[in-house]
Amino acid sequence: MNELKLSKRLETVAKYIPEHAVLADIGSDHAYLPCYALLNGLAKRAIAGEITDGPFNSAKNQVERLELSELISVRKGDGLEVVKCGEADAITIAGMGGALIADILEKGKDKLEGVRRLILQPNIHAYHIREWLYKENYELLDEEILEEDGKFYEVLAASPGDKDRPYKGIDFEIGMLTGPFLSKEKNAVFIKKWSRELHHLEGIYRGLENAAPSAENQQKQEDILKRMKQLKEVLDRG
Ligand code: SAM
Repeated sequence: MNELKLSKRLETVAKYIPEHAVLADIGSDHAYLPCYALLNGLAKRAIAGEITDGPFNSAKNQVERLELSELISVRKGDGLEVVKCGEADAITIAGMGGALIADILEKGKDKLEGVRRLILQPNIHAYHIREWLYKENYELLDEEILEEDGKFYEVLAASPGDKDRPYKGIDFEIGMLTGPFLSKEKNAVFIKKWSRELHHLEGIYRGLENAAPSAENQQKQEDILKRMKQLKEVLDRG
């Protein structure tokens, strides 16, 4: 992977960058995504934010090597603190857990005014992001699921709008868990991911059945049973 040829995962993220965006890529690592966005005319300017020294230096070197320093500002800091209010109109946060992405958005909420598109790519637990988007009145515009190198990834694109629109006519909890668009489309990757998760939960459930009874155990079993029922429902649906 490099700034010219992204991974399938980052290429999917890039697809949702709106035209002429001023992009803030948070947790940018090598800054491949903002460099690609600039070189391909997707963004007109970008900020690459990094909290860790190593990736921050990689991003700086990469941007300098490509002579993009006038268009991409590489900044060191935690989450959205590197962005000034009104500076960016599109934000990408990719390659982290859903809880961390939701936390970065929550902590940096004041920086989101004027942002017209959020493109978020959790490696796990995408429901944390869907819950945050719903709470903050963002409308999920589209979702994709993909498999690369044996791992499943989800990409969520959202804008300020009608938070209820994607969940109309579907079970809300199942939509939050598996994705309103993804659960309607139910493609082969979706089926593979959630069948695997169902199998995993069945194993945990069997283990709990054989464990010493306790109130905590009972609660866990109930929670897992509920989750298994939801997954069966979405997987069995025609
Ligand atoms: N976004 C790139 C991608 O998708 O390929 C890099 C993903 S890498 C696994 C996650 C990066 O996010 C790391 O470089 C890490 O230092 C950075 N990171 C984690 N938490 C962060 C935060 N709160 N603020 C900024 N960067 C963060």
